[in-house]
Amino acid sequence: MAAKKHRSTAQSVIGKVLGTTAVLGTAAIAARAAKQTLSVPDKTAETLPAAENLFSVDDAMVGRLLEMMRIPTITGSDSTQKPFTDFESYLRSAYPLITKNLKRERPRKRRCLLYTWEGSDPDMEPLVLMAHYDVVDPGDVSEWDHDPFEPYVDDDGVIHGRGCLDDKGCLIIILEAVEQLLAQGFQPRRTVYIALGGNEETVGEDGPNPTPQLFAERGITPWMVLDEGGAVIDSPVPGIDKRLAVIGVSEKGILTLKMTAHTQGGHASTPSPDSAIFVLAKALSTLTTNTFPRRMPQPMQEMLTELAPYASPSLRAALANIDVLGRPAAEALGRTAGELGASMHTTVAATMVEGGNAPNALPTEASATLNIRIALGDTVESVITHLRHQINDDRISFEVVEGDDPSPISSTENAQYASLKEAIGSAWPDAVPVPYVMLACSDARFWHKHWPDVYRFCPMYMTAEQRATIHGIDENLNAAELSRGKQFHLELLQAVAGE
Ligand SMILES: [Zn+2]
Repeated sequence: MAAKKHRSTAQSVIGKVLGTTAVLGTAAIAARAAKQTLSVPDKTAETLPAAENLFSVDDAMVGRLLEMMRIPTITGSDSTQKPFTDFESYLRSAYPLITKNLKRERPRKRRCLLYTWEGSDPDMEPLVLMAHYDVVDPGDVSEWDHDPFEPYVDDDGVIHGRGCLDDKGCLIIILEAVEQLLAQGFQPRRTVYIALGGNEETVGEDGPNPTPQLFAERGITPWMVLDEGGAVIDSPVPGIDKRLAVIGVSEKGILTLKMTAHTQGGHASTPSPDSAIFVLAKALSTLTTNTFPRRMPQPMQEMLTELAPYASPSLRAALANIDVLGRPAAEALGRTAGELGASMHTTVAATMVEGGNAPNALPTEASATLNIRIALGDTVESVITHLRHQINDDRISFEVVEGDDPSPISSTENAQYASLKEAIGSAWPDAVPVPYVMLACSDARFWHKHWPDVYRFCPMYMTAEQRATIHGIDENLNAAELSRGKQFHLELLQAVAGE
């Protein structure tokens, strides 16, 4: 009984802060909060690296990124090989020390590259740094402010063009850091692999990235795999005015499901109310934002708890107690728009419909394609069972076009996660590193099927508007972020692969 009251009180606090229901609650939460240490980690001026060096734009690196972006490595079934070959040749000439010192292979002769920087200590498990060099089709280029493959830097130091964020920006900072360390004579103790994918954006259409399979066959267990995913962002949690470094410790699953209504056909002059298109429409109308229950995934709970010290006093108590709020908190947060809300449940989007082939004939079939992002705790199987139950119509069939369960959750209490936090601290001393669940899918999921320590974080600051340009139009990135990102990798490599 006490626990129930506790929950409803705390739910009110969250509801109030989020602008929904509003009865400000008190005692139990306040008492518990008072017992907790909610101190804000102190970063003194002495611990901060020289900010001016991190902020300054490295013109040579920016120039190399523009060169990479000029090469239209567009992914997809009708893409041609030449841009990929050109891109790989460019890497060879732009990074002479990497070309000279690192072993380079092409796993399964596919569009991907694997560089090996041999460590001196064979007993140490290797570090794997990932990025991809294919980009999504820019679509109608007339909608862009500028040609997406004629990248440029504007007067405010912002780089514009396809691929600067996803993912050539994330790729170049790895190579720049390694090239610099090679120039300094750095010899890693731990072997470092740089795994570059050339078919990430096809979402495994032409098969998954083959590199994890190669590692499994060779019996190599990575110490840590780091791929794109999270970034440095402005807090998505209302009431917290802070920059966060969100590290993906898991990713939602993905399911492309074809839902088909099967009925008798007939002439359109004597229509049945049960025509395939009506049956399909009725089924679709049952799918709402409430189709799947909201639950608080463990990484999001951890994120919110860690943010408590930075919140306003009323929200602070609720966040610090998020572990006991459970479902009500997930309900309140899950109703918010955007990424935070979507991370609390399995989401369903209808993306394509088809049915009928004549204006005067009733079709026997009509179908819709659903793009479903599976929350932690659900599976491909449980989602289909739930939909069958919800739609409850045996004239509807389901066909899995593609399905992948959510990834496991990587630890936030190991040396690997600590090393990421350290490296983040060197590039963004004022950002709070927190775990989160990645909503999109990445090549990291193929590694996560084999090994536990897989993280998703691209070490650059991106505004919400900039992140919205990924896969969209007018993709752009602040040039100074490349310097910060390179600093992150320099710190990480020296800390985990150094003497
Ligand atoms: Zn990407």
